Amino acid sequence: MPQYDYDLFVIGGGSGGVRAARVSAGLGKRVAIAEEYRYGGTCVIRGCVPKKLFVYASQFPEHFADAAGYGWTVPEASFDWPTLIANKDREIGRLSGLYQVGVENAGGTAFHSRATLVDAHTVLIESENRTVSAEHILIATGGRPNPHAALPGHEHCIFSNEAFDLPTLPKSIVIAGGGYIAVEFANIFHGLGVDTTLIYRGKEILQRFDMDLRRRLHEAMVAKGIRIQCHTIFERIERRGDGRLAATVMGGEVMLADQIMLAIGRIPNTENLGLEAAGVKTGVRGEIVVDAHSRTNVPNVFAIGDVTDRVQLTPVAIHEAMCFVETAFKGNPTVPDHDCIATAVFSQPEIGTVGLSEDDASKRFANLEIYSASFRPMRHTLSGRQERMLTKLVVDADTRRVVGAHVLGPDAGEMAQLLGIALKAGLSKDDFDRTMAVHPTAAEELVTMYKPSYLVKDGVRQA
Ligand code: NDP
Repeated sequence: MPQYDYDLFVIGGGSGGVRAARVSAGLGKRVAIAEEYRYGGTCVIRGCVPKKLFVYASQFPEHFADAAGYGWTVPEASFDWPTLIANKDREIGRLSGLYQVGVENAGGTAFHSRATLVDAHTVLIESENRTVSAEHILIATGGRPNPHAALPGHEHCIFSNEAFDLPTLPKSIVIAGGGYIAVEFANIFHGLGVDTTLIYRGKEILQRFDMDLRRRLHEAMVAKGIRIQCHTIFERIERRGDGRLAATVMGGEVMLADQIMLAIGRIPNTENLGLEAAGVKTGVRGEIVVDAHSRTNVPNVFAIGDVTDRVQLTPVAIHEAMCFVETAFKGNPTVPDHDCIATAVFSQPEIGTVGLSEDDASKRFANLEIYSASFRPMRHTLSGRQERMLTKLVVDADTRRVVGAHVLGPDAGEMAQLLGIALKAGLSKDDFDRTMAVHPTAAEELVTMYKPSYLVKDGVRQA
């Protein structure tokens, strides 16, 4: 008779939790998972997946406009927001079902319930008002948008969650934040015809990215008609008598809009989880503190994904889940590798990036070679669109290793995935040079930039 009801109980049915549950169940472990809302978590229900569908939706006006140069006459187009929402809901419903079924087909049990810790081995399944015990517990409860409680009138604002299900498409929106979500949604709303303003507290959007990409993207967004104001924050939000919102920003300017969206980061979901009862420690941001193996201070309790506030990306949570399975059930303690993570911002134009920005690389390496090409992608020639593409490689001149690769332009995210392999493998600029170009593509620029555009020595750009 086993000591516990389950070998593993997972709290949270998002990308990380479901992966850990499914793979562990596939190994023959007795696994249960609990999700209080819908299986799929942030990525599937209110993040990456619906966001990308919205990005596609928002790109059509440019496609229609570009078609003329290729000989097409496109009749005046109209857009129906409820159709997009309904079709998006159908797709995420399908995916959510697959997530749950995946666990069950592997032999696991999937609860639709909030689950909280009673002690280090006991979980309360709230919907059934009963407890179960487990040898290992994995917390994968993710995060949620920072509500910015200090902002007077924050209750009038929407967050990315609500943006996916607005009853009507607003005519105007002001978005605060300069990260992934603010930038992606500014482009989505603008593309769908919404008068869009982005405000950001820093000097340039997308702080952790290469400065050339940040500036070029900023310029491209402004050229499309998105207003961007840096160095500013909201001071208060008020609802006017006519139902519109008035946002007062630093300096006193008042911005009027139908909706105001806050995208100022996400915070871990750790409240009322019973962490204190189980003795699990949290950090200053409320995140669950884990060691390199995703183990909390309580040896049988692990945590992965956004709730640990390490790198808030779906593939990272999935990777951490796989490492957890190796560690807990395969006798192969495995540390998640958070180095050199390729990432994309689904802005318009898109960003794809892997490795170090020029600024970060210049702090780590004494001699850099920077290869950079700015050009009009072929698809924009006949369309007449002026938007330019940027490809950039950051090379440690002493070892010849490519330490950063950055792309701004169509399909940059797809390119970043493949560049990620090259950089992870530690390939050198000579390897890039030896690689035959695929012609005619935009990506061929990445292997045909033979001469450095400039050098950076001890952090200083050389003439
Ligand atoms: P980010 O961390 O990317 O950006 C948060 C932004 O909000 C930053 O610009 C930050 O400014 C600003 N900010 C923070 N606090 C305040 C404040 N009090 N007042 C004004 N501005 C503030 O978070 P997001 O919310 O955009 O996204 C959350 C996470 O989700 C991301 O970290 C990302 O990992 C993930 N994500 C990934 C996507 C993808 O892979 N394509 C898409 C969407 C989300 P500052 O720069 O000065 O700190």
